Amino acid sequence: MKKAALILVILVLVVLSVIAVRHYKPVVDKSECTGCEDCVKVCPTNAIQVQEEKAEIVDSTCIDCRQCVRTCPQNAIKAAK
Ligand code: SF4
Ligand code: SF4
Repeated sequence: MKKAALILVILVLVVLSVIAVRHYKPVVDKSECTGCEDCVKVCPTNAIQVQEEKAEIVDSTCIDCRQCVRTCPQNAIKAAK
């Protein structure tokens, strides 16, 4: 019985962790973005593309390191809820 409860607790923690990570993916506010590409230079997974002077993040490649959030001089990238 104790073992089953422990497994259940671990499963709940794993699910909550996955939800928390997915919950805070960065999002670009395109009205603030100037297309400077500073975020592109610091992204370790090449998850950011700039087209027509607006940055866009590819969610499937982003590892949520938040380097882009810290780097953007316009504060245009937010850790979205
Ligand atoms: S660093 Fe900021 S302003 Fe520059 S391209 Fe990226 S999101 Fe846009
Ligand atoms: S959070 Fe990290 S991996 Fe995701 S787009 Fe920004 S710099 Fe790239």
